[in-house]
Amino acid sequence: MNTATDTSFDAAQLPMRTELAACVRLMHDAAILNYNGHVSARIAGEDRLVIHSLVTPRSEVGPDDFVVCDLDGVVPEAAPGHKPPSEVHIHSEIYKARPDVGAIAHIHSESVIAFTLTTDAPCLKLVRCDAVRWRSGIPMHTDPTRIRNGKQGAALAATLGPHRAALMRAHGAVLVAPSARAVFADTIQFDENARAQLLAATLGTPAPLSEAELDALEEASPPEFLDHYVNKIWRYYVERGRAAGLIPDDWATHLT
Ligand SMILES: [Zn+2]
Repeated sequence: MNTATDTSFDAAQLPMRTELAACVRLMHDAAILNYNGHVSARIAGEDRLVIHSLVTPRSEVGPDDFVVCDLDGVVPEAAPGHKPPSEVHIHSEIYKARPDVGAIAHIHSESVIAFTLTTDAPCLKLVRCDAVRWRSGIPMHTDPTRIRNGKQGAALAATLGPHRAALMRAHGAVLVAPSARAVFADTIQFDENARAQLLAATLGTPAPLSEAELDALEEASPPEFLDHYVNKIWRYYVERGRAAGLIPDDWATHLT
């Protein structure tokens, strides 16, 4: 963990940075992040975001290993040596386009990437009941290159549109949600849905959820249920991470 003092942080950000650090470590442990991929959160009420520093391995990210950026991906202040990931414009441009988004995950999960590689196989479908929240659509961004500047980030934000997730051709995916723990839950279940479709395809032809089934699932999933589910997933992974030594005990007060 980098212990350098980052003058851009104030104490009020500590709970958010601790939660984001836990997200990064737990997604890394779930092989959703590896040497690539990142998670960010918007600073509430501001046009600034917090994202983990490029220099810290994802398995070691702690509350001090973050960078604050504006929505042009510029770092106004940071401790020496800290800098944002090279694809920070994924995050800055989506926050700029989507005021409703509070957190973003960009992932390079192998099971998700598989669905960006084929032309003769089914594309990613909604197969598990939890996948109903991507009913509005999962568009494909066709630029296979890394997102290196604001123009590319804005193009990805346009592809995402009003949706909660987009695939990125031969690259990965981006998911957005109102909060860090919500984007964590979404990312875990997005990956589960992709793996479930791959597994089902080994048995036969996967049967995506029908419109009638999606209607029923939406009716059975009011917002208070989804909030409960997000917290259920979060607590499960935090406790598992704590038992495995991934999450320090002194982070507990910020992760309840
Ligand atoms: Zn990437």
